[in-house]
Amino acid sequence: MTDGQRLPSGAGRDVLVALILAIHWQAPRLSEIDGATGDGDHGVNMDKGFARAGELLGASEIDVPGGLSLVGRVLITEIGGAMGPLYGSFFLEMASAAGTNPTIDADLFGAMLAAGLAAVVDVGNAGVGDKTLLDALIPADAAYRSAVAEGATFAEALDTMAAAAAAGSESTRSMVARVGRASRLGERSRGSLDAGAASCAVILRSLATSIKALLPPEAVSPDPRSARLADPQASREGEPT
Ligand code: ADP
Ligand code: MG
Repeated sequence: MTDGQRLPSGAGRDVLVALILAIHWQAPRLSEIDGATGDGDHGVNMDKGFARAGELLGASEIDVPGGLSLVGRVLITEIGGAMGPLYGSFFLEMASAAGTNPTIDADLFGAMLAAGLAAVVDVGNAGVGDKTLLDALIPADAAYRSAVAEGATFAEALDTMAAAAAAGSESTRSMVARVGRASRLGERSRGSLDAGAASCAVILRSLATSIKALLPPEAVSPDPRSARLADPQASREGEPT
């Protein structure tokens, strides 16, 4: 891992603020999704928790583990419902896997993601196909790990992770809920998205976007379309002559 793919140490504020905003703007949609199979509070609860973390953050600078553990603590202590302990443990364990490392690179982020996933499994005792946030998180973690193993850059692996989370969230539509409030509906839960899986996709997309934005430009692969714009000759490659 080259230095160009490391996240600077003071980046926690940007990462946390991006999460707070992403959850805030998606809150109505997340509550609406929860309303179809649950009690419709998912977006509101998440927004309350993340906004509270923002209040506590105030104007202070924070590193990434500090930002993640701040939101984790707030979710566990101040937010009820299934999500408080689940996402609270997710963020706290991500933070503790980051430890006191001054910078975060692709391998360390992979360890953080795996630790967050293990915590959600530990607390909720659910698995693949139960129609929970794990149906976004498990494929996201797997996709991230294989991307890194295949030599992807940190930025590419983050994009792969976010795309897998989105696809995983979408896959919950055809599932029957086996745990949590939605399981009371049985077969009638089929046909709707799972709210936790949807919020997990939002969270992982936000982490991917904010972290990528903090990486030095050379760590982010050039977009082939901009390469074509810069070099008109390149745009003719592959075209019939
Ligand atoms: P509540 O169900 O208490 O209203 P929320 O609406 O905030 O809580 O969150 C519901 C989400 O929690 C579900 O969409 C599901 O993704 C997730 N969930 C519920 N139970 C579990 C569990 N045991 N393991 C993992 N995720 C779970
Ligand atoms: Mg709910």
